[in-house]
Amino acid sequence: MKFYSLNSQAPKVSFKEAVIAGIAPDKGLYFPESIEPLPESFFEHIEELSNTEIAFNAIHQFVSEDVPNEKLKEILAKTLDFDFPVVEIENNVATLELFHGPTMAFKDVGARFMAHCLGYFSEGENSQVTVLVATSGDTGGAVANGFLGVEGVKVVILYPSGKVSDIQERQLTTLGQNITALEVNGTFDDCQKMVKTAFLDDDLLAEMKLTSANSINVARWLPQLFYFLFAYKQAKSKGKEIVFSVPSGNFGNICAGMVAQKLGMPVKHFVASTNINDTVPEFMRTKSYDPKPSTATISNAMDVGDPSNFIRIRHLFQDDFELLSKNLSSYSFSDAETKKALADIHKTSGYLADPHGAVGYLGLKKYQEDHPDNYGIFLETAHPVKFLDVVEEAIGKKLPLPPQIQKVMDKEKKSIRIKAYEELKAYLLAR
Ligand SMILES: *Cc1c(COP(=O)(O)O)cnc(C)c1O
Repeated sequence: MKFYSLNSQAPKVSFKEAVIAGIAPDKGLYFPESIEPLPESFFEHIEELSNTEIAFNAIHQFVSEDVPNEKLKEILAKTLDFDFPVVEIENNVATLELFHGPTMAFKDVGARFMAHCLGYFSEGENSQVTVLVATSGDTGGAVANGFLGVEGVKVVILYPSGKVSDIQERQLTTLGQNITALEVNGTFDDCQKMVKTAFLDDDLLAEMKLTSANSINVARWLPQLFYFLFAYKQAKSKGKEIVFSVPSGNFGNICAGMVAQKLGMPVKHFVASTNINDTVPEFMRTKSYDPKPSTATISNAMDVGDPSNFIRIRHLFQDDFELLSKNLSSYSFSDAETKKALADIHKTSGYLADPHGAVGYLGLKKYQEDHPDNYGIFLETAHPVKFLDVVEEAIGKKLPLPPQIQKVMDKEKKSIRIKAYEELKAYLLAR
């Protein structure tokens, strides 16, 4: 299968080329040439399949030209070695927990899948690939962990000094090996600007293969569709139509869910739940897409004012607003509403959500006000302990640290401080 650029100016490429390039030369996002539905029998018998079998069937058509079956199975086994439970917390309200991976955020699956694909593609090549990534928190940790020890791949992570949580900083800076953390004296936007400048810098491109590891990369985006299939497998026996509420920032995760729907998975509706960064809720209300600068919130992994994957969603629905609105609703919530939801969920069901999951819960409840007769699943995208201050304040008690987190808290932080792009460039060229 080939991938084309949504800007239509660049040539079609293979999966391997799309993964190594990240973004097309015309700056468009890559999109698969076709999405062939899986046979009905796959969904009829899905509960008899293991997670890796489900994932293999779902992603095979997109990658088979470049990744042989045995290799794909091996990559999936390494990527999916933890659980994805659906936990019911109220009648017709359940959560899909995506935080049981090594960094306790849902980005672990995409990051690991991409890391193993790139590692495979660089086998037998004499040049290394350098993955350059700017993070405001969760992405960096998941990418660092996913790529740790992968041969032929170096990872350089830029993060804004003093602006990520203590836990997140330790997840970025304590790994060593092929992972380097650059601590930028500036904001997340400064980090992102440096990364973008590097991708356009001919001096660098002449010396090295540079790629990105955010959800515009097809190898990080597509494997997220597995989650929805794993949820379907668990919720199918309820015998009700399923609605997914996805806490959304860059809209990669929800877009992958819509690819699962295109593969034939029965799903009634998607809800894109956001914090006050409401570009998409506003679009669904006004039909006008007006990106804006992002605003900081307590669900900071969703502080995005111009979601990069929304263009993929519009493309999936042929840019037909009516068709899209039959499948998608989108609502935005304030920090005050989110904190109240955290406390309410804990009080009524004893369940501990994180701020992102709480936004997903609110979106689901809002949709269910008018559509009560369905089985709603909101995605829990991070473990509550990663947002310790907010969650402890909302529920009024202390949380114990899980072992994955305890492990990094005891390690020594190592970072290189930089201020300006020239320092990043000098660092990359010196290696
Ligand atoms: C990245 C992230 C999101 C948003 O996912 P998108 O695919 O960018 O919409 C939500 N919650 C958490 C915890 C995240 O890390």
